[in-house]
Parts: sequence; structure tokens; C-alpha cells
Amino acid sequence: MKIVVIGTGYVGLPHAAVLSEYGHEVHAYDIDETRIAAYQSGEAGNIERYVNEPGLADIVAENVNRYLFFTTDVTGVVEETDVFFLCINTPPNRDGSTDMSYYLNAIHHLGNLLAQRHNKQRVVLVNKSTVPIGTARLLESVMREHGVENFGVASNPEFLAQGNAVEGSRRPDRIVIGADTLEDMEILRRLYSQFVNHVRIRYLETTPETAEAIKYVSNTLLLTYISFWNGVGGRLAEAIPNIRMEDLKVGVTADARISTWGSYVSNGAGGSCFGKDIQSLIYQLNHAGRPTDLLRAVYNINEYQKIYLIDRAIHEAHFNFNQKKVALLGLSFKKRTNDMRDSAALRVAESLLSRGVATIQAYDPLAMDEARRNWFNPEKNYLYERITYHDSAVEAIEGTDALYISTDWEEFRGLARTIRTTVKPPYLVIDGRRMLPDFENLVAAGYDYLPVGGLLMRGRSNSSEAYSENDQAIPAIDELPQQVPA
Ligand code: NAD
Repeated sequence: MKIVVIGTGYVGLPHAAVLSEYGHEVHAYDIDETRIAAYQSGEAGNIERYVNEPGLADIVAENVNRYLFFTTDVTGVVEETDVFFLCINTPPNRDGSTDMSYYLNAIHHLGNLLAQRHNKQRVVLVNKSTVPIGTARLLESVMREHGVENFGVASNPEFLAQGNAVEGSRRPDRIVIGADTLEDMEILRRLYSQFVNHVRIRYLETTPETAEAIKYVSNTLLLTYISFWNGVGGRLAEAIPNIRMEDLKVGVTADARISTWGSYVSNGAGGSCFGKDIQSLIYQLNHAGRPTDLLRAVYNINEYQKIYLIDRAIHEAHFNFNQKKVALLGLSFKKRTNDMRDSAALRVAESLLSRGVATIQAYDPLAMDEARRNWFNPEKNYLYERITYHDSAVEAIEGTDALYISTDWEEFRGLARTIRTTVKPPYLVIDGRRMLPDFENLVAAGYDYLPVGGLLMRGRSNSSEAYSENDQAIPAIDELPQQVPA
């Protein structure tokens, strides 16, 4: 089939690439010319600068200019196209609602192009972006406004997890199609023919509104689950001696009804989706006059979790961050990606800077460029000048007074030995991902260890005295992040 994918970011590029693998002719379109030029080059370094996903650059290199074409102008291919996928960014507005401006620009442009078709074959316009419930109807009315003929609209939400985008697209757990007519369902069945009767993949056909709702309910349920473990399991093990977090997880999730996924504690879930989707759902339900207490609690628990360990460092370990040097390991929101959107490390860095740290010595295996270019740019905030970038975890740790592990990169596991050979106690290790199973050796050697989901473990260096020389300067406990409006 002939397909156009509009928007070639974290969702659009893997989707276009995997569809081209199945032999469809895919035209991937974006308004960002430098991005398109990078993809067009077929070179891994250029592609990964925008979307860094295992295996993705290889598929692009293999299919570019054969089945996969990159363009900033789709005028020439509109006539023959069977399906358009909309993979446009839909970020949050300040009030939690969805910023639809990018999406609206894209669909008005598409409406203009489609209205000029000579060939009036059926064309299906599919929302892959996560958009408020009712957006397929909006898409339909915009097309009518432009005078487009013989089209259908559908919702086909994307469920990929970053870091696993290619595998997730090749072997999804489900395909959800929300469309109004059998004709459009049939076109999408042809497109996804390899999944339709698959024994393991759930192929669900439903209404556009149900499909849109499935995406929001899925993401908010996942965040609820994560927040339950952080807000209940973690809190218990942080307050009561002798509760082993890992055993708690095994014992609870042995029940087949309880998911093992998400049953871990961490310094909060980041990424471009969970936070914005739950805010958007709160907004949509508020707008419909329905209560949102559960969703608001989940959102607030998750946001606070991102800086909670800093509060614990101050109030439990009596660590005064003022003028200290702190190593920050991990900047991306999770391992195997350079994406820093809504990353816990952003909140951690802001919190540390506001507490007067002298420097943050940062290291991330993939996200350093991203951090410098897009997030910690000193032109945006002069305090970011206090962030220095280092080529390895060891370099970042050298000369610091404390360490904060924010991302679950495998290379941070078992860092205890490196810490011991690089810095001397008194030293505070704050572990937001429980990455140091051998922490007991550290503690025995005099280092203080403060993990999420566990008690503060004091080293033998009598560090509480060392840290609290300047207790008066310790700021008050962080305020809860801005609450979602009731
Ligand atoms: P992104 O910011 O990485 O990519 C969006 C792309 O759209 C950019 O390349 C941008 O240049 C392009 N674009 C913007 N306006 C355009 C226009 N008028 N015409 C053509 N291209 C245009 O965003 P993303 O992470 O890929 O997310 C896209 C959508 O998918 C969002 O709605 C998001 O919520 C949803 N989603 C994302 C993920 C994820 O893991 N990132 C997972 C599931 C769903």
C-alpha cells in the first residue's frame, strides 16, 4: 500500500520504518527540514541525533529510497496514497489541556492538499498521535470544511515504549482501530494484514472514541500502578526497618492477578507521555463535570517522587547541599534513550540548583548532547552554567560530595566499587533506581547510602556531624509541585 506518515519523531519514524519493512511504500513527511535531511542521509549518527532507538537506524538505512522516502513536501504523492498517519506532537498546555496547535496546522495543510485530488479513491486518515477523545470527529469536520471527498477517519493509538520502539512496532501486544465504516476497517486490515489473525496480537476494532479512550486509560493506569508502588510499597520500606523491597515485590506479584510490570520503586516516571496524558485526561473529565480525585493524586505522587529523595537527603541524612559538588548520573527519562522530556533528572537538577549546589557534574551515556542543546542551556537560565558534563561516571563522580543516580542505565549497576576507588567518605550516595545491590560494602567502608524504597544506611564515618555543620542553611522541605487544578 502507499502510505504517508506525517511527523517523524519518536513515534512517526519507527512506525514509518517498520511499515516499509513490510513492503509498503512509505513517505515520511515532516516540516523540520534538518531532521528530514538527517534521515535521508541514512547514516546512523545523523538519525540517532533525533531518534535513538535500538535497530532503527539499520532499518532506515536498508529501506531508504527503496520503500522509505523522506520529504518535506508530499504534494506529489497525495493522489495515490491509501492511508495517512498523523504522528504529530501534542504537548500539554499550562492548564493540563492538550496543545493542539501543531496537530491543527498539520490537518489543515492536509485538508488543502486532499481537496485538490483528481483521483477520488478512498483515503483513510489515521490519528496515531495521542489526542483528546473526540479528535477523530474534529479531523472529519476539518476535512469537510476543506471540501475533501471520499475519505474516512480513524484512531489507531500508539502504545510503543521508548527504548523498545522497533520491537514494539514489529511485535505489538495489540492493534486498536477505531473507525466508523467497514470500508475503512477493511483498508486498515489490509495495511496490518500480518497482525489481523495473529495468535498473540489482539486486533481490536471499535469506535474512534473508544480507541482514543483506550490510550488514555492505558497510560493513566500504568502511571497509577507505578505510583502505587512508589507511594505505598516504597514508603513502607523507607519507614519500617527490615522490609526488603525486592522480596515485597516477589511476594505481592506472585498473585497472577497482579502485574510484575511497574512493581518497582523509582524516582518517578518521566517521558513525554505519562505526565501529559494524565493531565489531559484530568482536564477532559473536569470539562465533562466528573470527579478526578484518583488521577490527581496519582499525578501529584509521581511529580513529588522526582524530588522526594532530595528532601530525604536533607531531613534524614542532614545533608546540606549548599556549595556542595554533586554528581548526577543519568539524564534521560529512562535507559536506552536520549529523550529527556519530563525526565526526573530535570527536576533533580532544578532542585539541587535552587539549594545552592556549587556544581552538578553530569553524565549520561546517550543524552549529553540533548541536555546541552535543549534542556540545560545557560541562555535559558544562568544557573545551568553550574552544570558540567563528563565523559564517564567515574569522571562525573571525581571530586564530588554526593552522588545522585537518576536513570536506570545498566552501566550504573554495581557502581559501588567505582565510588570507593574514586571518592572518600563522608560521602552520600542517593540512589533513585536501586542500582547498587552491593551497597553493604559501601556502607561498611563508611559511605552513606540513601535508596528509594529503603532506609537510610549510615556509613561509619560519623557523617551526620560532617554534614550538619551548617544546619541553619538547610532550606525547608520542598513544597509539593504545583497541584493539578481541581
Ligand atoms: P515528537 O515531538 O518526537 O515528533 C513530532 C514530529 O512532528 C516532529 O518531528 C515535528 O517536527 C513534526 N511536526 C510538527 N508539526 C508538523 C506538521 N504540521 N507537519 C509535519 N510534521 C510536523 O513527538 P512523538 O514523541 O513522536 O509523539 C507524537 C505523538 O505520539 C504524540 O501525540 C504523543 O503523545 C504520541 N505518543 C508518543 C509516544 C512516545 O513514546 N514518544 C508513545 C505513544 C504515543
